[in-house]
Amino acid sequence: MSQNRVDEYRRKFVMALGGTAAAVTVAQGFILREANAAGEVSSRPLDKAVTSDKRWGMLIDVTKLTDGGAGMVEACKKEHGWGNEADSDEAQKTHWARVVKVTDKLTKNSFSLPVMCQHCEQPPCVDVCPTGASMKRADGIVQVNKHLCIGCRYCMMACPYKARSFVHEALHDQKPYSPRGMGTVEACNMCIHRIDNGQLPACVEAAPDAVIFGDLNDPNSTLSKTLKDIGGKQIRADLNLNTGVRYHGI
Ligand code: SF4
Repeated sequence: MSQNRVDEYRRKFVMALGGTAAAVTVAQGFILREANAAGEVSSRPLDKAVTSDKRWGMLIDVTKLTDGGAGMVEACKKEHGWGNEADSDEAQKTHWARVVKVTDKLTKNSFSLPVMCQHCEQPPCVDVCPTGASMKRADGIVQVNKHLCIGCRYCMMACPYKARSFVHEALHDQKPYSPRGMGTVEACNMCIHRIDNGQLPACVEAAPDAVIFGDLNDPNSTLSKTLKDIGGKQIRADLNLNTGVRYHGI
């Protein structure tokens, strides 16, 4: 991938962030789908700027994840090309998502779940960011603008989910649709490039029987109806962050 090509995608990325008329160019003609675990699809044309009409979210049924979410994490890694730094020790490596094992101290019962950016309605990372690099898009997706990030890492400290990581090393062979940068902070962006192109996030595609993706604002979406039927817990619900990522079976 040439540098010019990467720059071209970066420009498009930044333009899309603003949700302005520029986003129309990026998104025109694409279809945005909402699908449940069984592959049910409804669609609408996405021919206008991002609005708050929709709020994207997902429900992860941990009881249906046979691998504790490892496949979802691998799909994310492959999609965005993170976590392959050669020289870093494990603690220094980037992670957009990780598998967390939880064990009940009393019963010793344990289970694993994938943890990534929870796409909070009131994101602490956005509150503390001094440059505006941490931002929440109108449709609820929380992300980092690499061009504004100065690498101060305040947002890493503020995130209660340890969902953000710092890029220590020079990056090679970047994915053109997911630009990254040494010296910046990064995290799950719900595969914003896929959503804007009418596809499901990579992790959702990797676990079709366990994850429902959709519009939390639509009471008739499969996601909303399922949440109403079986519930969906937030991690650290006590923080009242109203997360876009919910779990069943934790
Ligand atoms: S590391 Fe970047 S995104 Fe995080 S608070 Fe600092 S400037 Fe904002």
